Amino acid sequence: MKITVIGAGAMGSLYGAKLSASPKNEVVLLDIWKEHVDAINACGLLLEEGGEPVRYGNLSASTDASLAGHADFAIIFVKSTVTKQAVLGNIGAFGPKTTAITLQNGLGNIDLISEVVGRENVLAGTTAQGAMVLGPGKVRHSGHGRTVIGELDGTKTTRIETVHEMLSEAGFETTISDNVVGLVWDKLLVNAGINALVGITGLFNGELLGYPELLEILELAVLEGKKVAESEGVKLGFPDPVSHALEVCAATAETKASMLQDVLNHRKTEIDMINGAIVRIGGRNGVETPVNRSLTNLIKFIEKHGMNFIEKHGEQIWKNE
Ligand code: NAD
Repeated sequence: MKITVIGAGAMGSLYGAKLSASPKNEVVLLDIWKEHVDAINACGLLLEEGGEPVRYGNLSASTDASLAGHADFAIIFVKSTVTKQAVLGNIGAFGPKTTAITLQNGLGNIDLISEVVGRENVLAGTTAQGAMVLGPGKVRHSGHGRTVIGELDGTKTTRIETVHEMLSEAGFETTISDNVVGLVWDKLLVNAGINALVGITGLFNGELLGYPELLEILELAVLEGKKVAESEGVKLGFPDPVSHALEVCAATAETKASMLQDVLNHRKTEIDMINGAIVRIGGRNGVETPVNRSLTNLIKFIEKHGMNFIEKHGEQIWKNE
């Protein structure tokens, strides 16, 4: 099986590395980060698991999709802010028989990928795995959880069974869902409740549980998202998404969510595809979303100006005194 990963950062490297362990698979990692690509080609990919580094050498990396050839499966793992440009930029990986798979967070990835490769060539899902980049060629496997995949129309096809087998053999606990769109919304509501709040406060996911004033915001953001999902006719998998979001906080207590990592590294966050998507779709369907709008605006402020104001102004006041 030829598997190409588009966006070989934290998650792309994790999935690529594990899939490359099977002699049945030929794995190519595509990324625009040249230092990372060069390090993988020189020394393999170093995946840190439970403090132990494991070297995966049975894969290659490239910045040029045309050198990689057509894939059987192209797993898209760029941030959802750049999904369409990444698929277009790596179009050389797609042939007439290539199936794209998105396990990204945020809303809109399925449509953006479909616009380029055709909806019939797209599978989707969610992952509760966690990973973070430590440096060029080095990634930490930071969390374990289920991967759920499905055909967009919910049917059980040979190819979804192939992907199920491929991921399971690579060590990812995987299930097939007949409601993959509902699943993406379930994950969206969890991210809408947690990610912006930890991005703003700097807390780890589990620490949110200790602050009732923040949990009130989490609950309101998730309930707005639930109303928006209902207005779209989406069938959510979790009837009580607030309890589900709180369970995820507890289960990922030690996690530094990707939005917090992005804020700390002064990178653009996925806010527009998470809380921002709830605001946009709510606006279209006549559902009020003031809490999600506030969270979106606060993260956008931090993206532009960082967190320096309190320190800077505090220092000024101190000097003036
Ligand atoms: P990341 O930033 O670590 O990796 C993204 C990679 O994409 C980077 O290496 C970047 O150089 C590359 N890239 C950017 N533009 C590209 C292009 N045009 N072509 C090829 N590569 C390009 O991100 P991540 O944390 O791995 O997250 C990927 C997705 O998975 C996001 O939607 C995220 O929300 C989701 N996710 C992440 C985690 C996690 O623990 N990190 C868990 C679940 C879901």
